[in-house]
Amino acid sequence: MMPRDTLASPDLGRSRWSRLAPVCAVAMWVAAVAAASAPAPADQAQERQDGQQIFSALQSQGAIVTQSPYYAVLREVGEKIEQAAGPHWFVMNFIIIHGNQPNAFSAPGGNVYVTEGLLRTVDNKDELANVLGHETAHLILGHITERLMQSQRVTVLQRLNRLFVHNTGSQNTIVAANAAINYSFLNFTRQQEYAADQEGASLAAKAGFNPWGTVWFFRNLASTYGDAGFEQYVQQHPSTNDRIARVSAAIRAQPARYGRWPQALRVTTGLPRTSAADTLTLNHP
Ligand SMILES: [Zn+2]
Repeated sequence: MMPRDTLASPDLGRSRWSRLAPVCAVAMWVAAVAAASAPAPADQAQERQDGQQIFSALQSQGAIVTQSPYYAVLREVGEKIEQAAGPHWFVMNFIIIHGNQPNAFSAPGGNVYVTEGLLRTVDNKDELANVLGHETAHLILGHITERLMQSQRVTVLQRLNRLFVHNTGSQNTIVAANAAINYSFLNFTRQQEYAADQEGASLAAKAGFNPWGTVWFFRNLASTYGDAGFEQYVQQHPSTNDRIARVSAAIRAQPARYGRWPQALRVTTGLPRTSAADTLTLNHP
C-alpha cells in the first residue's frame, strides 16, 4: 500500500512520490503486463498528468470536499473495490466533490469523484460499492484511455481551463455538475455504459458486496429523477430501465461471475456517517 498524504500536506506528497518512483515503475510494469487494456507507459504518464490537472482545477475552484462524515465509508468501500480490480497500472483516490445531484465520474490516472448528493442518495454500502465499481470499470476497461485518444487532449484541457476561469466565484454545487458535463472525454457510448454496469457489479461481488446494488441504485435514481440516470454528463446515456434489465439478466445468467445474492433490498438506512472532521487523504497527488 502506498503511504497516504493528507490534503493538508503542503507539497501534496510530491517528494514521497518521487522517492518511490523506481518501485512504482516496476509495479506499473507488472500491472501493465497483467492488464491488456493498459496504455503505453508514456500515455500512462500523460494520463496521470491530466488527472492531476483536473484535481488541481477542481481544488482551486473549491469543488473538492476536504472534510466529510462520508470519507470513512468511501475509503473502506473504495479500497475493497480497488483491490478487486487489481492489478492495474494506476493508483486510485476516491474524492468527494460538492454537488446536490447524484453524480460520479472517473478521471484519467485513477481518481474517482463522487458528489455529496450521490452519497446522500445511496441506501447502503452495496449500492455505493456498485457505483464505485462502475466508475472503476471505466478505468480498467480502458474507456477513459479510448475517449482520450479520440478527443484532442489539448482541447479537453483548454475547455476545462475556460470553464473554471469563467466559473470563478460561482456556487460550488453548480460547478461540480457543470465541470463533468464539459469533460468531453467522459462522453461514453451506450455499449461502454452497459459494459461498465456489468463489470462494476462483478467487481462489487468480488469485493464481497451484493451485485444487485447496481439495480437498487438505478431504481432509487429512477424513482427520483426518472430516466435521466446518473452520470448525467453522458450525452447519449442509456435508459435507466434498459440498464436495470441488462444488468439483472447478466447477474442471473452468470452465477459463477456474480455469486448468488438475495435480490431483495433490505438495508435502506443510508451510509454510515462518522465525525464531520473525517478528512480526505490521497494515495498520490
Ligand atoms: Zn458510466
